[in-house]
Amino acid sequence: MRIGDALSLLVERADVIEAAGRTFLLIEATPTLMNFLKSYGAGRETCGACHRRFTARRSDAKYCGSACRQQAYRGRRWSRWLQL
Ligand SMILES: [Zn+2]
Repeated sequence: MRIGDALSLLVERADVIEAAGRTFLLIEATPTLMNFLKSYGAGRETCGACHRRFTARRSDAKYCGSACRQQAYRGRRWSRWLQL
């Protein structure tokens, strides 16, 4: 089953709204899926490693979790090493 098919089973209603030159997606879904979307798709910040949107607990957070922070740190070290 594709993710889109699974979502269509969980989402009861989805409307695309265009207003003020921006496109919005209105979703009606089960509370479980809504919590999932809130925590994984509707955050204000974008993770610097996995590019998933998340809600930061600290205003200066750049990554969604310690795994991504570590990955980004390793990535930085690696690219610095390449430049030498
Ligand atoms: Zn991440």
